[in-house]
Amino acid sequence: MGLYICWKCNKQFKSEEMAAATSRCPYCGSKVLFKQTPPILKKVSSD
Ligand SMILES: [Zn+2]
Repeated sequence: MGLYICWKCNKQFKSEEMAAATSRCPYCGSKVLFKQTPPILKKVSSD
Protein backbone atom coordinates (compact mmCIF):
# COMPACT_ATOMS: atom_id res chain seq x y z
CA MET A 1 0.00 0.00 0.00
CA GLY A 2 1.40 3.31 -1.01
CA LEU A 3 0.42 6.89 -1.26
CA TYR A 4 0.82 8.79 -4.45
CA ILE A 5 0.89 12.48 -5.09
CA CYS A 6 -0.03 13.88 -8.44
CA TRP A 7 2.50 16.28 -9.83
CA LYS A 8 -0.11 18.13 -11.79
CA CYS A 9 -3.06 18.63 -9.45
CA ASN A 10 -1.20 17.92 -6.24
CA LYS A 11 -3.81 15.53 -4.92
CA GLN A 12 -2.98 12.58 -2.78
CA PHE A 13 -4.42 9.18 -3.36
CA LYS A 14 -3.76 5.60 -2.49
CA SER A 15 -2.45 3.09 -4.92
CA GLU A 16 -5.75 1.23 -4.89
CA GLU A 17 -7.58 4.39 -5.88
CA MET A 18 -5.81 4.67 -9.14
CA ALA A 19 -6.43 2.36 -12.01
CA ALA A 20 -3.78 -0.27 -11.61
CA ALA A 21 -3.27 -0.82 -15.30
CA THR A 22 -2.80 2.80 -16.21
CA SER A 23 -1.04 4.29 -13.19
CA ARG A 24 -2.73 7.61 -13.65
CA CYS A 25 -4.08 10.20 -11.33
CA PRO A 26 -7.78 9.44 -10.74
CA TYR A 27 -8.51 13.15 -10.63
CA CYS A 28 -6.81 14.67 -13.63
CA GLY A 29 -5.42 11.66 -15.46
CA SER A 30 -1.83 12.78 -15.19
CA LYS A 31 0.79 10.10 -15.43
CA VAL A 32 3.34 12.03 -13.48
CA LEU A 33 3.04 10.79 -9.95
CA PHE A 34 5.27 10.80 -6.98
CA LYS A 35 5.23 7.83 -4.77
CA GLN A 36 5.16 8.79 -1.18
CA THR A 37 6.76 6.17 0.93
CA PRO A 38 5.65 5.86 4.51
CA PRO A 39 7.72 8.09 6.70
CA ILE A 40 10.72 6.32 8.04
CA LEU A 41 12.13 7.69 11.18
CA LYS A 42 15.61 8.72 10.45
CA LYS A 43 18.08 10.19 12.73
CA VAL A 44 19.08 13.49 11.25
CA SER A 45 21.74 15.48 12.82
CA SER A 46 21.73 19.15 12.06
CA ASP A 47 25.28 19.82 12.97
ZN1 LIG B 1 -3.85 14.78 -10.79
